[in-house]
Amino acid sequence: MLAHAAQADDLDPLRHLRNRFVLPDGVIYLDGNSLGALPMGVAEAVDDAVRRQWGTDLVGSWTSAGWWEAPLRIGDRIAALVGAQPGSVVVTDSTSVDLFKLVVAGVRLSQARPGPRRTVIVVDDATFPTDRYIVDEAARLLDMQVRAAAPGDVSALDDGVALAVFCHVDFRTGVLYDLPAVTRALHEVGALALWDVCHSAGAVSIGLASAGVDLAVGCSYKYLNGGPGAPAWAYVAPALQSRIDSPLPGWNSHREPFAMQLLFAPVDGIGRLRTGTPPMLSMVALEAALAAFDGVQIEDVRRRSLELTALMIGAVDEYLADVVEVVTPRDPARRGSQVSLRHPDAYPIVQALIERGVVGDFRAPDIIRLGLAPLYVSRQEVVRAVQILAAVVDSEEFRAPRFAARHTVT
Ligand SMILES: *Cc1c(COP(=O)(O)O)cnc(C)c1O
Repeated sequence: MLAHAAQADDLDPLRHLRNRFVLPDGVIYLDGNSLGALPMGVAEAVDDAVRRQWGTDLVGSWTSAGWWEAPLRIGDRIAALVGAQPGSVVVTDSTSVDLFKLVVAGVRLSQARPGPRRTVIVVDDATFPTDRYIVDEAARLLDMQVRAAAPGDVSALDDGVALAVFCHVDFRTGVLYDLPAVTRALHEVGALALWDVCHSAGAVSIGLASAGVDLAVGCSYKYLNGGPGAPAWAYVAPALQSRIDSPLPGWNSHREPFAMQLLFAPVDGIGRLRTGTPPMLSMVALEAALAAFDGVQIEDVRRRSLELTALMIGAVDEYLADVVEVVTPRDPARRGSQVSLRHPDAYPIVQALIERGVVGDFRAPDIIRLGLAPLYVSRQEVVRAVQILAAVVDSEEFRAPRFAARHTVT
């Protein structure tokens, strides 16, 4: 299987993309869905931003280095990767904060429409925890009810639903939902669709515009490789932008920020979702990181991602059949860019794997999560990783006491 994988790597039209990353020797990195690897050129860009733009050019860099426009400029770069029009994505704040802005703005949009007041926000019943906390709190402020349901469960949708907040890919299982079909079902009952695409941006063709998605958020530090704590991004469909009413306006979203007026007047366009001053060192890192996607079509990235995940599932069938359960769907149309495996000793197994140089992660209660970042993971690494996993499980080396200690970050 390894020799076959090596051959396929040699024939891969995207194999050169791996050279756009700084990857440590001796490590098979399968956690790019948590923190993407470091792209080439990022360290130099940040160094220049610190020494020259900040150190020498000082405050003038807001203009001369294009700092002020960075949230929209970088937003356009991300828009191209998620199937959105220029001017419909802004890079700002964190996913959690952007989600809060869009949940409230979405409910306000719904309530500004004619017809009876809609009182329900539907939220993904297996959502990433932060999304649920934010939706619950926004609902409390807005006097709305929260209804938990799986994306695609049409029985949860009726004409009381103002907005649904769904994750495109389930972060635990790797299930990919049918974003166009779910969006259509929401529109059929007159509800708005707010998608969290944290686990698909940069790995899956999303097509926000062609699917008619109303609102979306995504993070930049997973498959987009923007670096630890990279600012997140928010999408608003162009037709809704003039009516978007953010609950967190700030001077950066003012029509005339330097007029320093006491009353707020929102700028036109997606910049309306800005709040305060952007974290420029992180913005510079993100912009440089996105160069790893230069000249790359997201459809080709998706194709490669599916080849890698299929290969990994095949290798698990070969080396670990009946030992772990493959949780991620075998149907490519329902699969994100990770392979999740279930085993009662998932936690110590992941620790033992890390000691052997295979970096994946553990998700409670029993998931071994292996993310296959399609720009830099090779097929040989996929097969090697599964062979090492089989060795760790067969030898029971994961039972050593040192693997049982829980770390703060898993
Ligand atoms: C990673 C992730 C987040 C992270 O939110 P932060 O505010 O960046 O911590 C939120 N939602 C989903 C679905 C994620 O996968």
